Amino acid sequence: MKIKTIIILFSSFFLILGCTDSNTTDSASNTIQNVPITVTFNTDSAYQYIQDQVDFGPRVPGSLAHKQTAEYLQKKLSQYCDTSFIQQGVFNNIAINNIIGSINQDKKNRILLCAHWDTRPMADQDIERPTEPADGANDGASGVGVIIEIARQLQQKKPNVGVDIVFFDAEDMGEANGAATTWCLGSQYWSKNPHKSNYIAEFGILLDMVGPKNAVFAIEANSWMYAQLYVKNVWNTAKRLGHGRFFNNSFGGQLVDDHLFINQNLGIPTLDIIHYDTKENTGFGDFWHTHKDNMETIDKITLKAVGETVLQVVMDK
Ligand SMILES: [Zn+2]
Repeated sequence: MKIKTIIILFSSFFLILGCTDSNTTDSASNTIQNVPITVTFNTDSAYQYIQDQVDFGPRVPGSLAHKQTAEYLQKKLSQYCDTSFIQQGVFNNIAINNIIGSINQDKKNRILLCAHWDTRPMADQDIERPTEPADGANDGASGVGVIIEIARQLQQKKPNVGVDIVFFDAEDMGEANGAATTWCLGSQYWSKNPHKSNYIAEFGILLDMVGPKNAVFAIEANSWMYAQLYVKNVWNTAKRLGHGRFFNNSFGGQLVDDHLFINQNLGIPTLDIIHYDTKENTGFGDFWHTHKDNMETIDKITLKAVGETVLQVVMDK
């Protein structure tokens, strides 16, 4: 994804969110007293799903690794969802393979969970090897790995709502200083050609770069603009589970990411959980679009914070 603008917003943000970290401790493993975690999320599984993707090699569209990973992801979703398939299309002359799974197909009220699964063709922020692709452990694989584990848990837990999972292709092929529409090709395609006609979900959650150690999920401006109610729900759920260290009340940039096109083209309020720390150079961490984006940047404590939070949000419905 790319940064559109850095904006300062919401001076009354803490009041708006209506919840501070005062009840939590500064540890990802702690919970607010007397509020038990009602979900389990297996971090080792999520980590393995990330490792499996990285082991194929960079998932650059058109590559063998990309083809093999598509088959792997569809197989995984077929194990844990009621239905799964690969949506194929062409957008901006690029072949698109979006991987889609659905749980509880008969339920009217639905939640959309999504992440991008492709790898940027070049690690263009890397000083030494900017023309070669990185492993993309965080940028791509982390969100997908967390969602596969959520799907595995949902198969056992039987949520009250329907859940649709979409792994978007070709998110990361954009021009560094180019138009927003050069990015997020898979989600642009899907949001104009959803897998079901008149598709609607109550809300959507996009995961992107959800594995860094000491991640900060600053609230992203488009998420706040389009999906404020659900941002409050997700961030407050994270705090309830003791993950306020990651989901603090900071706010970040305005990002062009897959959720933007879902909001604009389909009108499904969709938020982005994405590592964005205003104290870091680009906001995304030094691994972003460099060869540091490998398994060493994946921290299981962060995966747990994100996975438990999203799973709880689904089970609370
Ligand atoms: Zn990227």
